[in-house]
Amino acid sequence: MAASMASQAAVRGLRTTTTKHVFLDKLKYTWLNPRRWLNLQEYQSKKLMQDSGVAVQRFYVVDTASEAQEAAKRLDAKEIVLKAQILAGGRGKGVFDSGLKGGVHLTKDPAVVGELAKKMLGFNLTTKQTPKDGVKVKTVMVAEALDISRETYFAILMDRACNGPVMVGSPKGGMDIEEVATTTPELIFKEVIDIFEGVRDDQALHMAANLGFKGPLQRQAADQIKRLYDLFLKVDATQVEVNPLGETPEGQVVCFDAKINFDDNAEFRQKDVFAMDDMTESDATEMEAAKWDLKYIGMDGNIACFVNGAGLAMATCDIIDLHGGKPANFLDLGGGVKERQVYEAFKLLTADPKNLDQEDEMKAAF
Ligand code: ADP
Ligand code: MG
Repeated sequence: MAASMASQAAVRGLRTTTTKHVFLDKLKYTWLNPRRWLNLQEYQSKKLMQDSGVAVQRFYVVDTASEAQEAAKRLDAKEIVLKAQILAGGRGKGVFDSGLKGGVHLTKDPAVVGELAKKMLGFNLTTKQTPKDGVKVKTVMVAEALDISRETYFAILMDRACNGPVMVGSPKGGMDIEEVATTTPELIFKEVIDIFEGVRDDQALHMAANLGFKGPLQRQAADQIKRLYDLFLKVDATQVEVNPLGETPEGQVVCFDAKINFDDNAEFRQKDVFAMDDMTESDATEMEAAKWDLKYIGMDGNIACFVNGAGLAMATCDIIDLHGGKPANFLDLGGGVKERQVYEAFKLLTADPKNLDQEDEMKAAF
């Protein structure tokens, strides 16, 4: 529970802030460093993948049911998949407040595509990575579905322990990867990438074999892995995650899902990528906090957290949870915090009605 709260904060924390110069007094401007991690929708990430020659299925992006129906017709595929576009993962096992179960739907009947889209668009989808009321779905991806004979997990991410990028993969990918990591950690494979050499052929083949790709599929998967690393470098990503990286009965290796995070320090040379930014899923308080370069994530409880440093803030949320309390938020003030930011942080916390009974709750918790 505690861990999941921290990870919920971590996941949602990846979506705040803009570069801002803040007027402190009549004479002095202070430039705050941007600390925002851009997060794109799946369809945007897939466009970037397509541009790098990564195998993704054909798709359209729609925002009305009739467009969905039209897209299904144009795809003219044996099977169609509808995928709700929200920034959180876990959509496959999510639930809409329209009653529809699953943020990802497969159908062989193009006539029902419009009906399904109607139950998705405009409704909130709740997954284990969203707030409990979910996130409103404004766009749906209508894509060609393919039979998947096996789902693997593959990601490239920055790992501080390795001082650089590392590949992480598992032959048991799909919707329960967290479960795999907990119960069978031996099925998670890592391969450190040398930043001067890049992904070597033998490394890509080794990873492909660890993912369980056999025969000609091993080479194909290795090729996809190398292309994903090219993309990782090209767009200044901090993470490229494909879950599932699947294989089809026809012998294709395809990226069925896509999640890319970007290094905000590279914004100056990734203008096209950052221009895709969609702030409409951001919470108003989180946006206000972001203006002051504060990392604030609203949570369900009623004990305010006001902490210096993300790790300590997560640990504080967990300690509160451990003692039976519930954090009202995650707030990381950051390292070089200035007086004005602390003032604004207090304003945000005291404006939150959930914090009114905090003193009593603290007494009860400790
Ligand atoms: P999430 O990770 O948010 O749950 P995914 O994109 O991984 O969403 O989709 C969930 C599941 O739906 C996948 O694990 C896969 O089994 C299935 N799926 C997704 N895209 C396709 C597709 N194009 N064809 C067939 N099945 C798909
Ligand atoms: Mg997925």
